[in-house]
Amino acid sequence: MNLGEVRESLEQLGLTAAASVLEQRLETAIAQQITYLEFLADLLLAEQAERRARYLATRTRLANLPFRKTLADFDFSFQPSIDERQIRELANLGFVQQAANILFLGPPGVGKTHLAVALGLTALEQGYSVYFTTAHKLVEDLATASRENQLRRRLKLYLAPKVLIVDEIGYEIFPPQAATLFFQLVSIRYEKGSIILTSNKSFGEWGEVLGDAVIATAILDRLLHHAHIVNIRGESYRLRERKAAGLYLSPALKPSLGSDNIQNTAFNP
Ligand code: ADP
Ligand code: MG
Repeated sequence: MNLGEVRESLEQLGLTAAASVLEQRLETAIAQQITYLEFLADLLLAEQAERRARYLATRTRLANLPFRKTLADFDFSFQPSIDERQIRELANLGFVQQAANILFLGPPGVGKTHLAVALGLTALEQGYSVYFTTAHKLVEDLATASRENQLRRRLKLYLAPKVLIVDEIGYEIFPPQAATLFFQLVSIRYEKGSIILTSNKSFGEWGEVLGDAVIATAILDRLLHHAHIVNIRGESYRLRERKAAGLYLSPALKPSLGSDNIQNTAFNP
């Protein structure tokens, strides 16, 4: 076999990364008098690295994250109410092994989704499966499944990822029956798989959001049994960016500007 044929053979065997680095590694091996074993190990490592990267990319796509932001992208100095050490500790992913939950609470724009996504990315890198959805989409999806007599099967699907991120509880009032469906989801994952949840509402307001105080209590009972709570009080990062761009009008000038201002006052009396 000549070089081209060897490369083709590697490709046919599915060793595409090894095939693409073959020529260059061969040259290096000759120039640096690398042993046969080292040369082979080198090719295999290139193939393994490529596969790991591809596998991670696939799982990251399946995770349905709304954006890609990491802990390194998070400016802790902007949000002093967050205990950076606690977040770094959470990033060690002990919570995933313990099937514990994380609740990020606070007004809009303070970084709840960012932190949830960052922990999701960390979990993906460590080989865990992750799925991101919003509370609204989740209960809508479960309601559809329920109507089609597929609820049990659908719930099983939501049990599959090691980390399930449920974003934005409280931004929209749950429609009737949604609280029961959400309760079932929390129940099947209880002590089996982590939920990372974000909410702009305090626990006391959950009864109102879910439309049923009894079910809300039952949900919180399970969610909080093994949970890390990150309470964020502070200014919206989005608002800061708008202010910096000179686009910010004070609420006094324009009271209907957006929920950022309204929610902030609720959390920062
Ligand atoms: P929330 O989910 O609490 O409403 P997000 O996590 O969506 O807020 O944050 C709003 C935007 O501001 C996002 O683009 C996010 O990456 C960014 N952001 C928020 N807080 C910080 C921070 N402390 N450092 C860097 N970026 C931040
Ligand atoms: Mg958010």
